[in-house]
Amino acid sequence: REKQRQEGVNLMELSASFFRERLRMPEGKAARDYLHARGLSPEIQEDFAIGYAPEAWDALKRHLGERGVSESVQIEYGLLIHREDSGRRYDRFRDRVIFPIRDIKGRTIAFGGRVMGDAKPKYLNSPETPVFHKGRELYGLYEARQANRHLERLLIVEGYMDVVALAQFGIRNAVATLGTAASETHLQRLFRLVDEVVFCFDGDRAGRQAATRALETVLPLMIDGRQARFLFLPEGDDPDTLVRREGEAAFQNRITCASPLSEFLFEQAAEGRDLGSIESRERYASQVLKAVERLPDGVLKSLMLSELASRTGVETSRFEALLNRHDTASA
Ligand code: ATP
Ligand code: MN
Ligand code: MN
Ligand code: MN
Repeated sequence: REKQRQEGVNLMELSASFFRERLRMPEGKAARDYLHARGLSPEIQEDFAIGYAPEAWDALKRHLGERGVSESVQIEYGLLIHREDSGRRYDRFRDRVIFPIRDIKGRTIAFGGRVMGDAKPKYLNSPETPVFHKGRELYGLYEARQANRHLERLLIVEGYMDVVALAQFGIRNAVATLGTAASETHLQRLFRLVDEVVFCFDGDRAGRQAATRALETVLPLMIDGRQARFLFLPEGDDPDTLVRREGEAAFQNRITCASPLSEFLFEQAAEGRDLGSIESRERYASQVLKAVERLPDGVLKSLMLSELASRTGVETSRFEALLNRHDTASA
């Protein structure tokens, strides 16, 4: 078991070096041009250990084979695909720009690969392996810790390119979930490192839905002293396109102005309601109450209840009574 695991760690490092070397070779020219066109300097490519997977079906397989890595381990770690039907075995990552995903100690545990053209899928990630669990890992966390002696806040963005582009512009505290929603485990891990997280999703429908889900997920973690804020980007933008267009200072300013959780929560509940009628105020209050219910007991929870009271003209104690009734009902 342990031997297999050691072999796995080893193989990920071997693969990462292989991809990096290939980026520098003649066959990596198109990938270098691509990265250049996306505005990434050689230094930032180095910081994130970006590489290139050659076009061949067996380039990595042969490289690893020559170094004594068995094909079964290559398959287990998601680098080699084995087709049961035809029995064919071939490299998972081919002709893609490679983003290594590193754990908190800097060990490579997975890869993300982007096509340079319009082929699908745009991004290909390592599957779940003995060392890689999507619901736990965050792209860029190791790099953010490397770049900052003391981290105060972390920015959660959607994509690899967002993390790297922000770093290129001097904003070196962004991390990305890996094509999944931010999980409670992700957020727990971040709150162990910093007291403040800022969610920053794409300015599209998927991004707004992700923000709503993130709000749900973060509520139970909001013990006093922690902060969560929400940054909404203009329609059609993601952090990469925005920082490129507006520059670092403007982006920092957006971070500073991001909505606190409380504000986002009230705004969301008010959205699409005129609050002129008792019925719409009832639905508004119920929605807020449902969220407040998920907050841990503390000052934030009390303040949210007082705020809801003043916004609806109902006494705080009435809402408290409702919350307590739910407690006993669900207990
Ligand atoms: P780029 O700027 O390179 O086009 P992006 O990060 O803006 O990439 P989005 O379409 O906004 O791409 O997707 C956000 C993130 O979701 C990606 O960085 C990637 O992690 C994940 N993702 C996107 N498409 C896929 C896919 N087809 N398969 C797996 N993951 C994907
Ligand atoms: Mn998007
Ligand atoms: Mn995007
Ligand atoms: Mn993008």
